[in-house]
Parts: sequence; structure tokens; C-alpha cells
Amino acid sequence: MVEKSQSWFRRAAAATPGGVNSPVRAFASVGGDPRFVVKADGPYLWDADDNRYVDLVSSWGPMILGHAHPAVVEATREAASHGLSFGTPTTGEVELAEELIRRVEPVEQVRLVNSGTEATMSAIRLARAFTGRAKILKFAGCYHGHVDALLAQAGSGVATLGLPTSPGVTGAQAADTIVVPYNDLDAVRAAFADNAGEIAAIITEGAPGNMGAVPPAEGFNAALRDIAHEAGSLLIIDEVMTGFRVSSAGWYGIDGVAGDLYTFGKVMSGGLPAAAFGGRADVMAKLAPLGPVYQAGTLAGNPVAVAAGLTTLRRADAAVYEALDANARRIGDILGNALTAAGVTHTVQLAGNLVTVFFGETAPTNFDEVAATETWRYAPLFHAFLDAGVYPPPSAFEAWFVNAAMDDASFEIIEAAAPAAARAAAAATEPGRA
Ligand SMILES: *Cc1c(COP(=O)(O)O)cnc(C)c1O
Repeated sequence: MVEKSQSWFRRAAAATPGGVNSPVRAFASVGGDPRFVVKADGPYLWDADDNRYVDLVSSWGPMILGHAHPAVVEATREAASHGLSFGTPTTGEVELAEELIRRVEPVEQVRLVNSGTEATMSAIRLARAFTGRAKILKFAGCYHGHVDALLAQAGSGVATLGLPTSPGVTGAQAADTIVVPYNDLDAVRAAFADNAGEIAAIITEGAPGNMGAVPPAEGFNAALRDIAHEAGSLLIIDEVMTGFRVSSAGWYGIDGVAGDLYTFGKVMSGGLPAAAFGGRADVMAKLAPLGPVYQAGTLAGNPVAVAAGLTTLRRADAAVYEALDANARRIGDILGNALTAAGVTHTVQLAGNLVTVFFGETAPTNFDEVAATETWRYAPLFHAFLDAGVYPPPSAFEAWFVNAAMDDASFEIIEAAAPAAARAAAAATEPGRA
């Protein structure tokens, strides 16, 4: 029964475009009624109709310890009791900055902001100011928040003509963004040759999780660093998703490739609005009040958000990362076994502990290959899981996010749900071919 969620969705749709504050929540690509969640605990969510779900979204990443972790709730409560916001420097924000710097060696200084979008927006402004160049190179299928310049998804023709790919993004913004296929170093080199002296930075996800989990090919990130540096450009590694989830040092902890600038969010916020950008001290020194690059935030470094983030990171010890890795493999095995039994062609792909099932013979290495998979098998799989009390991401183009609170009981629910979900995927028919 989802009557209460349905009724809230009608109310929401009257008050808010599409009824949601972030598009993917609307279930647009899987159909059906979005669930209005009223509480969460450990590995579970409960909706307004009191249905319980094993949560495989984890707030799109942040909740690595599981929901309502007692230590995080207590730290948040205590911080709130001391006042919600001061608009002054605070001690906690220094400790959080030091924690990020301690974890990711190439990061010498950070500045706190409120969202991953703000972090990437600020990082590209800083990279442009530092290099005195305008253009940014990004990869198709990588998401860096809804920054105007980074929404340009465009194929080369669109980029060349300076046409925006989201209405509302100006032609000038789009023209300054070069989009190339992921894992394609020749395309990166060609873009640098065609735009000599004009590219401020390459921005890339540590490992892409926003087209589903698509890991960088061996040596890819290191080559990006070398190409960028040879051309006098910066490498911005966006670890908003991978940061402090895939290892204690994020993707840097896996491949050890040093970027010039980094962006963080999600896990470091503990689930409240907080994010950061940081990197080389000589680049960060260009920021006001030291330097001329303006960047600010009324609520940046908010003490309650900082308390939640700092406590989450301090609790994220080796055992937590082992649990995340093991849980991701376990999800991958459950999905893989069920789909094999149902005769569905698939590949389970991991990038660290981000996991995605692709309906295709081979593991995709870029967005075009992701888009060529049988993504129409995903909606029936999703709904079969949802009906059985498991909440996977409501989109085929997303990673599944485990948390360390998942226990045998929650895995039993997933295991029990998987065969019917796999059969639903098997029975799916391609739209227009029914
Ligand atoms: C989520 C995400 C962002 C945007 O963060 P918001 O807090 O949603 O603005 C940026 N980059 C990556 C890699 C992300 O996964």
C-alpha cells in the first residue's frame, strides 16, 4: 500500500515542480509512485505508509554508517544545542578541514561550502583564475553538479557551435566546455591540441559513478594529470561521490594519482548540507581574502553540519571500509547470480565499492556504451525489488550505494527479492518492440 505516498506526491506536485527537490527522486525513468520517507534507521527506510525498505541509495552516498547512527545523531544534537549558525569562524570547521587534509595527501588546504555543486563551481572558477584560461574539459557521463558550464553534455558539434544542452545555459558557457568520451586519452590529447593554451582544467570524477559505476582504465587518471600538466592546465578530481566512501582517502586511496584540486561532499557531510574544495596551497592562495578570487557562503562551515560530517569521518574506520567493500561485492553477487539464473545477459561492474548492473555482454567503459545497454530492463527489476522491501536507485544510470549498517537480516531480504526481480528483468520487452 502506498496511498499516503501517492497523496503526498499530489500535494508535492502542486507546490513544487514535479513534486521533488531533485529530479531523480520523482521515479521519472522507472515510473510509479515515489515513496515519501518519514524515517530511517541503520540499513532501513520507512515510508509514509509504514512500508520498510532495505536502502541501497544511502542518500546517494553520504550515509556510509547507515541511518541515524547514534554517535552522529548525538554529535548533531549537541552541536545544535550550542547554536545553529554564527557567521564567524568556528573550531569544528578547522577540525573538519584538518581531517580532509590528513586523509588526502595532495590536499594542502580546503574551503568548506554547502553542496557538491558549489564545490565544483568554485573549483573551476579558481582553476580559470589561476591559469588565466577559460576552457574546461569534462567527460560525457560525468556529473559534477548543476553548474552551468558543467551541464554542457554536448557532442563536439554542439560544443563547437556553442549551443547549450540545457536550456538556460548560455552559449558562451557551453562554448567554454569541451566534452570528450570517458577513458579515451586520444580524445583528450586531440582536445588539447585543438585548444592549445586555452584549457584551464580537466575535471573528472575519481571514478565515475554518475553513469553507473564505470572505473577509469588502468593509468587513465595518471595520464590525465600528465596531459594537463604538460599543457599548463590543472587536474580537478571530483570526489564528491567517491570521497571517503570507496576508501578512507577516497579514490586517491585506490589509485594514488594526485590532482591539483579536489571536490568533496556527500560522505563528509554526514548527511547534512556540507561540501568542500581544496588542493594545492599555491592555487588555494588565490582565494579571497588572501587573493582576488571571490568565493563565500553565509552558512559555509555550518557547525551542525560540520559536527555530523566530522563524527561520520571519525567513525569511518578500517572496519567500516571493509564492510562497505564486502557489502558491495555481496550485492553484486546476489544480482549477478539471480540474473544468470533468469537467463539475463548482464555485467556487474564495480568501481571501488560503487556497484552497478548493466544489461549488456561487456562492461561499459564510457557513456555511449552505457547508453547502448538494455536499460529498459531496469524499471521492472527496480519495481520488483521495491515491492519486496528493497530500495535500489530509481535510475539505471546510477551506482548502488551500500552502507556499513547492512547486516545478514537485510541481505536476506535482498536475496529473497532478487529472483523475482531478475525474472521481471528477463520478461521486460524493449519499448516499441513489444
Ligand atoms: C553528487 C555529486 C555532485 C553534486 O553534489 P550536490 O551536493 O548534489 O550539489 C558533484 N559531483 C559528483 C561526482 C557527485 O556525485
